[in-house]
Amino acid sequence: MKAAVLETRGREGLVLRDVPMPVRRPGEALVRVHAAGLNRVDLYMRDSGVGITHSLPQVMGVEAAGVVVEAEPDSGLVAGQKAVVFSNAFCGQCRYCLAGDQPLCLRAHIMGEHRDGGFAEYVSMPARCVLPLPDSVDLAEAGALLAAYLTAWRMLFGKRALRPDETVLVAGVGGGVAVACLQLARYTGARVLVTSSSDQKLERAVALGADGAINYKREKVAKRVLEMTDGEGVDMVIDSSGAASWDDSLRSLRRGGRLVTCGATTGSNPPADLQRVFIRQLEIYGSTGGNLEECRQLVKLFGSGALRPVIDQRFALDEVHAAFDRLGRGEQFGKLVITMEP
Ligand SMILES: [Zn+2]
Repeated sequence: MKAAVLETRGREGLVLRDVPMPVRRPGEALVRVHAAGLNRVDLYMRDSGVGITHSLPQVMGVEAAGVVVEAEPDSGLVAGQKAVVFSNAFCGQCRYCLAGDQPLCLRAHIMGEHRDGGFAEYVSMPARCVLPLPDSVDLAEAGALLAAYLTAWRMLFGKRALRPDETVLVAGVGGGVAVACLQLARYTGARVLVTSSSDQKLERAVALGADGAINYKREKVAKRVLEMTDGEGVDMVIDSSGAASWDDSLRSLRRGGRLVTCGATTGSNPPADLQRVFIRQLEIYGSTGGNLEECRQLVKLFGSGALRPVIDQRFALDEVHAAFDRLGRGEQFGKLVITMEP
């Protein structure tokens, strides 16, 4: 079968080639992949990979949606059924798994990081990680669901859930997680403010329901946020950019507000501004991925048709470099998706 394989770090190290079909092991389900979303972590793995414990070569792709080919009868899965893959092959036995907190699993094996990924025609994963979908769904949208949208779900609703009467600021709208946060926050009825350096992206965000848009190249973000919130600040900030937006993110929060971070694309070590944190009693917490229960809730919402992931562009598997290039340039609004069938 064809797969996008990372053989060495860097753009030229990612090659499209034939690899052996995955062998379904006991307890696993074999899925014919239709689509798989591209994520920042893929770009990071391709070019650096520091801190990721895997060895190369590696079939890439931390998402996958497709059709079940083969599964054990007691798995609840049947051949021919549409399904989406929860990428974390969690151990099920460590203290975090037993508490239902699979993203913290001590022995997690992530598809596309530690085991063969979704940029391939087939993938085999533990059946407990393969969630059935109704026939009505678009598999390309399903392939874009379980990284950005699951991450967004946990950020918004995981610890101190965003309420309908609250206001959230989403920094840097355009990236997959930020767009997902905008959509999910609007779905709950909360008020959403967004920032971007691109007027075009801000316009698209407003079309998706954003209540306020700030161009951070031209405007002072925290000042504008205070103007838009009667001088109070927002209840929650979603920040996946890190160093570049951190100061504005902290200054945009109301007293007792919370900042949730899931990324550091512009740097990992912004000034902590501890005085502001304790005097205003702010909460700062990190988030990555989501657990199986959150995943089921998200899949249910998606399956109902109430949530449709925003797809910026679809690429065939042999256009994988073009997809990475677009992500690298930060041009996208929403998700980039690799489809196995042209
Ligand atoms: Zn575990």
